[in-house]
Amino acid sequence: MRSWIKTPLAILAEDAGGGLVVEKGRIAEILKPGQVPSKPVDEVFDASRHVVLPGLINTHQHFFQNLTRAHPLGINKQLAPWLGALYPVWQNLEPEMLRLAARVAIAELMMSGATTAVDHQYMFPPGMQHAVDIEFEEAEKLGIRLVVARGATVMGQAQGRAAPARMVEAEDDVLADFERILARYHHRGEGAMRQVALAPTALLAVSDRLMMESAILADRHDCRLHTHLAESADEVDWCHANRGYGTVDWLEEVGWLSNRTWVAHGIHFSDAECRKLGRHGVGICHCPTSNAILASGLCKTRELEAAGAVVGLGSDGGASAGAANIMEEIRHAVMVNRLHYGDAAGTTHLDALRWATEGSAACLGRSDIGLIALGKQADLSLYKLDELRFSGVQDPIAGLVLSGGHRADRVMVGGAWRVVDGVPPGLDIERLMAEHSALARSLSRQA
Ligand SMILES: [Zn+2]
Repeated sequence: MRSWIKTPLAILAEDAGGGLVVEKGRIAEILKPGQVPSKPVDEVFDASRHVVLPGLINTHQHFFQNLTRAHPLGINKQLAPWLGALYPVWQNLEPEMLRLAARVAIAELMMSGATTAVDHQYMFPPGMQHAVDIEFEEAEKLGIRLVVARGATVMGQAQGRAAPARMVEAEDDVLADFERILARYHHRGEGAMRQVALAPTALLAVSDRLMMESAILADRHDCRLHTHLAESADEVDWCHANRGYGTVDWLEEVGWLSNRTWVAHGIHFSDAECRKLGRHGVGICHCPTSNAILASGLCKTRELEAAGAVVGLGSDGGASAGAANIMEEIRHAVMVNRLHYGDAAGTTHLDALRWATEGSAACLGRSDIGLIALGKQADLSLYKLDELRFSGVQDPIAGLVLSGGHRADRVMVGGAWRVVDGVPPGLDIERLMAEHSALARSLSRQA
């Protein structure tokens, strides 16, 4: 099957005005303006009304949190009190709730143009031991590439931390589950649809031993390491007070300071810490919406990139960010970075698009996605500029970002159309919303 995505209105690729040919799930030809495919094609998709982007990649999210969007206990709070308020709700999470939360999150992300998702799943109360399996099942149904970053909390209220006892797992149980899911789900190499990352949740929820053992396992199984880092000033202050050094030195102490690691948020770093992260090629997932809503601060994207660190984009969970919409993250990244640096030219729409594509792919250690180029996976996101908000747009790609494009018309993953006319084919969205909302109410009632 050869498909020609023909003569796009605009495309985020060099000299590709004739479009591209997709064959066997990859980009087989890139056509200059006026050029036609070298061999006959089976299908022609007229993209003359579409902006074509590389499939967008969301590198940090918590699917389950969409059951508690705009929860009265959580709104208008900063990170620590927000977590403290929502843990008692989240600790009652059940498998069917997570299944519907994952289905909603994945559909929502894909409808915004994401082709790869990362779910940092750290909620494993009793009965939730198959959370990772549930997420991979839901991802397969909808056809997104999924990395499950398997979180873990091993320090809770008994150790003076915030997490309730129901959320706390034994270190050895976590390590055994890491091995189980790596063996079962972690695919390596080009075109992988399922991957596992080892992701002890955050400094205040984990032990050094769990971190060190995770790093050893990640080396052995060739997978990535992920955690939250320096999201709040409280965490950084705690680290200095209790450990005598900062969060980046802690990463080094536990063997995580390498290009196998990407961290979420990365806000409260000194310039010296940015340089250290850059020297070691650590990836940073910038989460502009969540950071703004929780008033957590601003990621030092410029200092980090200048130092050699990789910057990707993430939506974070629905309890903080609300929507899981990767296009909104791109727009918000432009806005918060321009405000932060007081420089309108310093963060362009192309910079933010690069973070959500090449940058996010690099965070995940992948070179087969995130770029429209010969031989790359045919992961594509296509947008029509047919809403009132785009009327009068002159530069289609800038207009897509700056006018707030947030709905893909078509999404292709590995050569297969997974969103058609704005929705995943066959998905009953009204019914999904009704079922998901009922389970969300049920979760809240249990708190
Ligand atoms: Zn997070």
